[in-house]
Amino acid sequence: MYTLQVISVITLLVCSILGSVFSQSKDKISTLDVMSYEAVLELNIEKEQIEGSVDIAFQTDAATVAFNSGKLQIIKVAGENVLSYECKDQKIIISLRDRKDPENRIQIIYKGNPTVGMFFIHETEEIYTAFSTSEWMICNNSPSDRAKFKLDIIIPSDKICVASGTLVQKMDQGDKIKYSWVQDYQTPTYTYGFAVGDFKEYQEMHRDISLNYYAANYSAKDVETIFDKTSDMMDFLEERSGIRYVQNSYSQILIGNHYQEMAGLAVLKNSYGELVLKDTTETNLISHELAHQWWGNMITCENWNHFWLNEGFATFMSAAYNGHRFGQRKYDSDINSYFEVYNSIKNSGKDKPLVFTDWSNPSRDDRNLVYFKGAYVLHLLRTELGEEGFWNGIKYYSQKYFGKSVNTLDFQKSMEASSGKNLNAFFHEWIY
Ligand SMILES: [Zn+2]
Repeated sequence: MYTLQVISVITLLVCSILGSVFSQSKDKISTLDVMSYEAVLELNIEKEQIEGSVDIAFQTDAATVAFNSGKLQIIKVAGENVLSYECKDQKIIISLRDRKDPENRIQIIYKGNPTVGMFFIHETEEIYTAFSTSEWMICNNSPSDRAKFKLDIIIPSDKICVASGTLVQKMDQGDKIKYSWVQDYQTPTYTYGFAVGDFKEYQEMHRDISLNYYAANYSAKDVETIFDKTSDMMDFLEERSGIRYVQNSYSQILIGNHYQEMAGLAVLKNSYGELVLKDTTETNLISHELAHQWWGNMITCENWNHFWLNEGFATFMSAAYNGHRFGQRKYDSDINSYFEVYNSIKNSGKDKPLVFTDWSNPSRDDRNLVYFKGAYVLHLLRTELGEEGFWNGIKYYSQKYFGKSVNTLDFQKSMEASSGKNLNAFFHEWIY
């Protein structure tokens, strides 16, 4: 029963998060390094429209740079070094003046009616984002390009806004209100996002970290029950990674139809709350999304071919947390459910290496492999290295690459350096 629920919930996660974005997975632009984005976004909820501007500070030694622009319509591009621009294949390609200094700053004004990446819920007048950011803000989609982020978002004054980063200011503007959110450390652009609506807001403190919960149609008591274990999960993940949670707040919101991790924020499907209320042991997605605050947001796959380093880790950590909370049987049951997903793919002849050669058009089975075979293989590695060897290796890897992009070889080398064992055979059998 439990196993079935885990699989059904997490399979939903797999299907809902990864919709269209990976058609854009070949977007890596090696000569572009964005330092920061500063965006202003005004939302027209009734018309399901956005108007935005973004200031992008970046370095490049190239004569042209390309930013992902989704289906947004470009109105104006300005900047000292901008010669011209063209829009092509959901990108804006900007030609730059010949110059010595690699630093650039440009401003792009745009508008659009996003239908993916940003979701308007008509009946409840709510909005939230979930993959990919370039559908609502011009940016570089590559997961290896980390940047700071500032978002000013202007909404009707009867709504509230929660976003990635930290809230620094709320300013009344007549019948509107401007929320300013800032993220002072660099993360990939897919971790940027927000939700807007008529939510109730709850808060508790965990040390000096503000844990914020948002929901429109759950009572205070329900919200308390659903998110009850957040601080315990945070302690567990900090202990296993050897790294303190980096932000001063962590927000979780029940809204819409997606599961999406962002920097300091997790969007969880609205109906998921009911599932947790029915069975309070069913918190895998809460711990999965929280685990991404380490593996995913801060230790990020350098390109989507190594996506299992994000998703296999988060999926494994939710089982590891259950082992810590409920004991070995629960851990085994979760791992077994992951194995079942992997085994059925294998039996249908669709098993593949966890490191993909081309993630530009993944099938549902490919996605399930990354989540569930990925988590299962981490379990096998735990068995191979033993408790101490495995967790010391996880700490070594996490601390070494915190705030950086990683590939699978980085992970292998870390586990080898920490344990003193040669893991070539294991990685070749299970991962490559
Ligand atoms: Zn995930």
